[in-house]
Amino acid sequence: MSDTKNNNYGFDTLAVRAGHNRTNEGEHSEPIFTTSSYVFDSAAHAAARFSGDEPGNIYSRFTNPTVRIFEQRLAALEGGERCVATSSGMSAILATCLGVLKAGDHIVSSRAIFGTTVVLFNNTLARFGVDTTFVPLTDLAAWEAAIKPETKLLFLETPSNPVTEIADIQALAKLARANNCLLVVDNCFCTPALQQPLALGADIVIHSATKYLDGQGRCIGGAVVGSEELVGGDIYGVVRTGGPSMSPFNAWVFLKGLETLSLRMEAHSSRAQILAEWLQGQDAVVQVNYPGLKSHPQHQLASSQQSGFGGVLSFEVKGGQEAAWKVIDNTRLVSITANLGDTKTTITHPATTTHGRVDPQARLEAGVTDGLIRIAVGLEDIADIQADLGRGLNSL
Ligand SMILES: *Cc1c(COP(=O)(O)O)cnc(C)c1O
Repeated sequence: MSDTKNNNYGFDTLAVRAGHNRTNEGEHSEPIFTTSSYVFDSAAHAAARFSGDEPGNIYSRFTNPTVRIFEQRLAALEGGERCVATSSGMSAILATCLGVLKAGDHIVSSRAIFGTTVVLFNNTLARFGVDTTFVPLTDLAAWEAAIKPETKLLFLETPSNPVTEIADIQALAKLARANNCLLVVDNCFCTPALQQPLALGADIVIHSATKYLDGQGRCIGGAVVGSEELVGGDIYGVVRTGGPSMSPFNAWVFLKGLETLSLRMEAHSSRAQILAEWLQGQDAVVQVNYPGLKSHPQHQLASSQQSGFGGVLSFEVKGGQEAAWKVIDNTRLVSITANLGDTKTTITHPATTTHGRVDPQARLEAGVTDGLIRIAVGLEDIADIQADLGRGLNSL
């Protein structure tokens, strides 16, 4: 739209159009600017750009027009002032931490977060003097008790992986504010189509664009969204200087993903709901975790905080690891892989893969039993997915 600064349009309109100012060529689809640097009219012009007196492109580690379209579009969808795109979801988290923390600072994090984020906090940040305390996602008293004078950042994902617990974002935002901390929400599972953490009081939203923003399993990328001051200041500074910038080609793929985001999230959610209800009726299944089920302990909170329940569910089969592996190994259609956010349904056994290195006691406390199976429901016909799982379930 020529109206790219107008964010009063509805979500779906912004998802299709925000951020794109047509060039003089009149292109309808967003152009890919594959250029590493930009040319100046004169030495004085170059000097003005470098000094910051004149805004504009210098070098694609700093800014790139295609990447900027993605940043402006995602910022509009999350309701944030500023977005900085990154080379991966992990570099979005790293850039955020390097941008807002210093040696001696402390993080309080949900323990139910992406495994590599735990490694980043425990191994990498710890070597630079930033310590992390992990708490159960839904235990507000534990969050409060873990906060120290040095605490600068609260970090969470909701719904959690793989047992789909829900964080009360508003309550945690209040706690963060009262203690002068920033609340950072990794919004990978819901995407802004289903949940907008900034509107609930979070300070920063993180994305692994690799997942649902792309939605078709093609590119690695990430993003940080928040205020101009926070994200446009030190966090952008880390990306520009440290270099985990998004490639223009990947930005273009993510732009195409954003255009269908709400349609896809609706389709993932409705399929996951059908599958979760069907799994509840299977004799071999003892427990189904999906926030869209009335039996989910936080169904009410999920309903008020999210506009849909997402594509990820997990369920526990009778018979532990042997039975879970049997269900997985009897599939012929769904993909045995730990990735998610793809049109293709994926199945995984968390206890021996994503959570395999977690201490068994901690694993059980996190709800990751030996019989637990996680499904990230794709966009295939749900009857085919049911038949694929039914083969293994009926053999138990
Ligand atoms: C995949 C994922 C990440 C990391 O993203 P990459 O793009 O793989 O670096 C972070 N958080 C969550 C919740 C994820 O699923």
